[in-house]
Amino acid sequence: MTIYLDRLEVANKVLKTIGNETYEFVVEQGRLYLTWTVNEQSYRRLCILQRGSHYFNSDKFSRNLGTGGTGESAIVQLVRWIKGRNTLPIRQWQYWASSSVKLWQDDTIANQVILWLREGNYPIEATCVFCNKTVYRYDWWSLPGKKEGLGCYKPETCPNL
Ligand SMILES: [Zn+2]
Repeated sequence: MTIYLDRLEVANKVLKTIGNETYEFVVEQGRLYLTWTVNEQSYRRLCILQRGSHYFNSDKFSRNLGTGGTGESAIVQLVRWIKGRNTLPIRQWQYWASSSVKLWQDDTIANQVILWLREGNYPIEATCVFCNKTVYRYDWWSLPGKKEGLGCYKPETCPNL
């Protein structure tokens, strides 16, 4: 299983702005865990991206996160990024930062998060999991016997779908 250790530092900085200071990604024996404390209860979960789960959806590890749905979606993207899976593009984070969503109440923090992600080389654009092309419109594909992930919006425009 791939884990990009160089992405952990940025991911952890971002993570703490979504949850609280206790939220942390840790790697133990080659596995990625998420640990956090909310309402004096401590949690530790293996970050498993289950096949069939949508890119926005919370996976097993994100139960009891206490961050709200948007925060969960953002954390799932961090996990995907650390694991080298394709992710929603940075404009998704900008949308989460916008006044219509306000994942962060403080605009200064929101801007800082976007900057951290940019500096950490978080993907500016989404790429198709099947053909690696940059995709501006995308869909989520989970087909038997094929890779799973964010891909070309229409099968007709993807050579590998
Ligand atoms: Zn494609």
